[in-house]
Amino acid sequence: MVTIAVTAERDGEPRVAVSPETVKKLTALGCLVRVQAGAGARSRFADDTLKAAGAAIAGSASEALAGADILLKVRRPSPDEVQALKPGAMVAAILAPFDDRAGLEALANTGASLMAMELMPRISRAQSMDVLSSQANLAGYKAVVDAAGKFGQAIPMMMTAAGTVPAAKVFIMGVGVAGLQAIATAKRLGAIITATDVRPATKEQVASLGAKFIAVEDEEFKQAQTAAGYAKPMSAEYQRKQAELVASHIKSQDIVITTALIPGRPAPKLISKAMIESMKPGSVIVDLAAERGGNTDVTKPDEDVNHKGVLIVGPTNLAGDVPVNASSLYAKNLLAFLETMIDKKDKTLKVNWDDEIVKGTLVAKDGKIVHPSLQKGA
Ligand code: NAD
Repeated sequence: MVTIAVTAERDGEPRVAVSPETVKKLTALGCLVRVQAGAGARSRFADDTLKAAGAAIAGSASEALAGADILLKVRRPSPDEVQALKPGAMVAAILAPFDDRAGLEALANTGASLMAMELMPRISRAQSMDVLSSQANLAGYKAVVDAAGKFGQAIPMMMTAAGTVPAAKVFIMGVGVAGLQAIATAKRLGAIITATDVRPATKEQVASLGAKFIAVEDEEFKQAQTAAGYAKPMSAEYQRKQAELVASHIKSQDIVITTALIPGRPAPKLISKAMIESMKPGSVIVDLAAERGGNTDVTKPDEDVNHKGVLIVGPTNLAGDVPVNASSLYAKNLLAFLETMIDKKDKTLKVNWDDEIVKGTLVAKDGKIVHPSLQKGA
C-alpha cells in the first residue's frame, strides 16, 4: 500500500495539499492518506470530513510523516519533514526551485525525489496537473474583486432616478491565465474593459471576452511569443513605444490589474511613477507580478502603497485568499499527477522516470539536483 502524508503548511499559507474529494479518490486507488490534524482547517476541510472521506488523521506532523512513501505539500517542506519519510520517498509541492539554492540542496540531500509542480510541462495531457493555471485563474478573479472592494466607487453603470453612476474603466495588462480571468470577472461586474499584451494570440482572446485590445502591434509584436507560448523580453525600442501607449491610456483608467511576466526574468516594468501620478486619486492598481519585482515602479510585495492618492496593491498569494477553492483545485492537480504513478492493480508506486511530466517536474533524485534548468550555468 502507498502511504501519502499531508502536513500543515506554515503560517501565512492557508492552502492544503488534499481535499475531501482527493482523499476519497486516493483511498479508492488503494492509498493510505495520513493527514496531520488541523491541516485542512484554513481551507475549511475539517478533520472529521477528511476522515469520513477515508483519511487517517494523525495527531502530529511526525505521526503523519513517519515512513510515508509520498509527501504532498503546497510549499517547500523542511529537510526534517522529508527526512522522516521512507528513504527515497517522493515529494510533490510548489517548490520554488529557483529560490534559496542552499535550502533546495539541503532538501535534495535527503535523497527524496523532489517534484516541483510549477515546472509541469504545458502540454494538453498535463492540463489537469497545471498548478500555475489553477492558481493564477483564482488570483485573476480575486485581484478584480479586491480592487473593486478598495475602489470606493461602483463598478457597473447604474441609471437611477437620482442620477447615473458611470461604469468603471478597468485596464488589464498581461493576458495570460490570470489576465483572462480578470477580464471575465470585471466583465461580470459591468466594467468597461481594455487589455494589452505583447503576444498576438491574446488579441482574439481579449475580443472574445468582450474587452477592447490595445497594443503596439509592430513587427516585433508579431514575433513576441516563444514556441512554449510565453512572452519574449521586448527590445528597448518596443518598450519605449509601449510606454507611450500606456501613458496616454492609463490616465483615464479607474482600476488596473497587471499580470505581465517573462519566464526566468524579473517582471517587466510597465507603469512608471509619472504614469501613476497621471491617474485620478482613488484609482487602484493590483499588481499580480509583485512577487517577481512588480510591473510598476512603486509596488511593494504584500503591501498597499498609497502614491499620491492612487493605491498600488502588491499581493503575493492571492490564490491563498480563496483557500477553499485554491486547495480544492491544487489537490486535484496533485491527484491527476499521482494517478499516472500508482499502479491500480497491485496498488504500488510505479514511477515512469522517462515520462515527460515526471522528467519535466523532477528537481532532485538520489541526493542530486537533476533538473536541466537547475544545473550550474544553465
Ligand atoms: P505568464 O504568467 O508567464 O505571463 C502573463 C502574461 O504577461 C502573458 O500573457 C505574457 O504574454 C504577458 N506579458 C509578458 N510581458 C509583457 C509585456 N511587456 N507587456 C504586456 N504583457 C506582457 O503567462 P501564463 O498565464 O502562464 O500563460 C503563458 C502561456 O501559456 C499562454 O500562452 C497560455 O495560453 C499558455 N498556457 C498553456 C497551458 C497548457 O497548454 N497546458 C496551460 C496554461 C497556459
